[in-house]
Amino acid sequence: MNIDKHNIWHPYAKIPNKVPTYHVDSADGVYLNLKNGNRVIDGMSSWWSMIHGYNNSFINTAMKKQIDVVSHVMFGGLTHQPAIELCEKLIKITPQGLDKVFFADSGSVSVEVSLKMALQYWQNNGQKNKTHFVTPRGGYHGDTFGAMSVCDPNKGMHHLFNSVLAKNYFVTQPKTGNTVQALADFEKRLETSHSKIAAMILEPIVQGAGGMNIYDPKYHKGVRSLCDKFDVLLIVDEIATGFGRTGELFGCNHANISPDILCIGKALTGGYMTMAAAITNSKISDTVGVLMHGPTFMANPLSCSAANASIELLLKSNWQKRIGDIQSQLINELEPLKDEKSVYDVRVIGAIGVIELKEPLDMQISQEQLIKCGVWLRPYGKLLYTMPPFIINDKELAKITYCLLYTSPSPRDKRQSRMPSSA
Ligand SMILES: *Cc1c(COP(=O)(O)O)cnc(C)c1O
Repeated sequence: MNIDKHNIWHPYAKIPNKVPTYHVDSADGVYLNLKNGNRVIDGMSSWWSMIHGYNNSFINTAMKKQIDVVSHVMFGGLTHQPAIELCEKLIKITPQGLDKVFFADSGSVSVEVSLKMALQYWQNNGQKNKTHFVTPRGGYHGDTFGAMSVCDPNKGMHHLFNSVLAKNYFVTQPKTGNTVQALADFEKRLETSHSKIAAMILEPIVQGAGGMNIYDPKYHKGVRSLCDKFDVLLIVDEIATGFGRTGELFGCNHANISPDILCIGKALTGGYMTMAAAITNSKISDTVGVLMHGPTFMANPLSCSAANASIELLLKSNWQKRIGDIQSQLINELEPLKDEKSVYDVRVIGAIGVIELKEPLDMQISQEQLIKCGVWLRPYGKLLYTMPPFIINDKELAKITYCLLYTSPSPRDKRQSRMPSSA
């Protein structure tokens, strides 16, 4: 009996699972060691999180040390050094003014908390009609109910839960080339509905799981000014973009703006533990007062110790240069694909490389091809993409881009002429 297939629910999957799962025996550096004998490069960083690679000795040591001190303790009425240390670090590295930290146990929960902060802020501010949110189409903010209500209304899960999801406002998706138009649409929405809107929520510079869309920092800057003009809070979801991924420590650094509330997660612990945070400023915290949230595993000391080690490791590395180099290599090796008949677009920013095809791929077939090629990537729909660990070397990255070319449906002779010698 195959327990995994018949008894375990995998993400966005059925039971029994139609698609194969690959059994990971162990992992080190950028490699996953599969039970079937394959050793593959993880080009996904386990969903954006494993920035320093697997089995990192610095983070391992920090966590082992913490286990012998205290692994978990409730955060209601108690506190501990790893949380205090992490709070100090986050205040230092996040955009200006953000110095009130709520630790959550997953990205979706930090989004829920940020929505609550915004709602409680306006309730206590005497503007009780400000109970809705506005967001660009094409976004993704998590799978819980509040988060789902601000995910893309068509590509998300809205159609399944439409009758129970809160009704929010959706505005034009920003894309390279439509900044002025997208801002105008946002402004029009604010003009008519600002008295009902608590906050704008968006992913900065890169919309991740909603379609891997990259847009102009000018949109982000424009959104900040319009939020100020119409008295609407700005929540920036950096769960995917935070900690260097786009070439800046945080996505909003590209636009040089500070949000009212910032959500972080994914790479916060270097991918070791589940942890996230919603961080705000004193204007919000003073008005909110008692914040009505408190997860059981909030500020888990082991998670905090992993986060402290991961941030220390990142800051003492030459991350900006490394991500710049990854970006250049991704541009060099992926951009030539733009001319292919089957390719709609190629997009690169920081350590993110995206190939958008004209037709959807068969995920199962391409997954098998990619494993045979030696990499772990998870294409979905028309998208083939990579966001590798920052510690990847040039040769390993060349292998990923080669496998991406190999998997995209383009003429084989062309592919082979581009095959790097290392692959
Ligand atoms: C992954 C993600 C989330 C949800 O985080 P979970 O830890 O999966 O709950 C929210 N927002 C963005 C931008 C994400 O990429």
